[in-house]
Amino acid sequence: MFKILINNLRKKIVKSSKMSLSKETRSLRSNKKEPNDEIKIKDEDSKEEIVVSKYFVAEILEPQKKSKKTGKKRKSIEIKYEENQSVENAGQEKENNEWFPKNWKETWELIKEMRKDATAPVDDKGCHKCSDPKADPPTFRYQTLTSLMLSSQTKDQVNHAAMQRLKDHGCTPQNLLATSDEVLGKLIYPVSFWKRKVQYIKKVAKILIDSYGGDIPNNIEELCALPGVGPKMGHLCMQVAWNKVTGIGVDVHVHRICNRLEWVKKYAKTPEESRKQLESWLPKELWMEINHLLVGFGQEICLPQRPKCDQCLNNKLCPFAKSNNNTNKKSKK
Ligand code: SF4
Repeated sequence: MFKILINNLRKKIVKSSKMSLSKETRSLRSNKKEPNDEIKIKDEDSKEEIVVSKYFVAEILEPQKKSKKTGKKRKSIEIKYEENQSVENAGQEKENNEWFPKNWKETWELIKEMRKDATAPVDDKGCHKCSDPKADPPTFRYQTLTSLMLSSQTKDQVNHAAMQRLKDHGCTPQNLLATSDEVLGKLIYPVSFWKRKVQYIKKVAKILIDSYGGDIPNNIEELCALPGVGPKMGHLCMQVAWNKVTGIGVDVHVHRICNRLEWVKKYAKTPEESRKQLESWLPKELWMEINHLLVGFGQEICLPQRPKCDQCLNNKLCPFAKSNNNTNKKSKK
């Protein structure tokens, strides 16, 4: 009943005064108007005019939201990470107008220093370690492509184990095409989206047999045209299988770290955006190295949640650490 009355009152006020309640409330709260400001509302039933305090009406109809837990009025929260989305990062411009991130060389070298022992999962279980080095070149390339297809949203350890089972089974396009979906599913389980990946593996194997003589395409366009193969996989596959650099392989680790370090001119919303921005300034001789370097760094130190900024050699240079004051917080294991 009270709700109906309030809703009727809201309609009448908006109709008679043409005011926007939200705006009115904000301006009243910020004391730009006298609390005694009044509005006249015509009661359509009695045709009488009623005089009401705007402040009273606004507070009744647009109350400030309260926290469910504490009952206190919520304070606005500054979200620093998202702030950058429309703001250009503080880089340096050279004479020819090229943009480079501030301190990127120093930061790069410090990441290399932190990665020098090569102890991250990617170092011995990454996709470059999944193919049989003794296999003939087309089979080696096919296994590289397959491991990359299995790797999306899957831990390196899980992917590596699945590839080992596939290799024991016989990881060639002919053999996997002849394998039933059920058996193939059991071989690759528990990689993420294993059911969908079974279908992709089958479709790709057929295309490779029909159009490429059982080998894989030797260019990025045709690789990315295969079902289940995106730019990240394509560029990494070109690199590992063909030893050719066609672009930077940007996965979630590279994407996240580049945003945190402001290695992108503008906050990049997707890995693909990060890739384009990175390729615009990073010297080409480093394109082959960056994925492996940052993936391991992201697995061990610059973690997705609770990055270990207190252990990171870059914590004095990193814009993310500075803005979030992460260096003062003890990282939790
Ligand atoms: S200081 Fe923290 S956020 Fe910055 S690179 Fe290091 S771990 Fe990542």
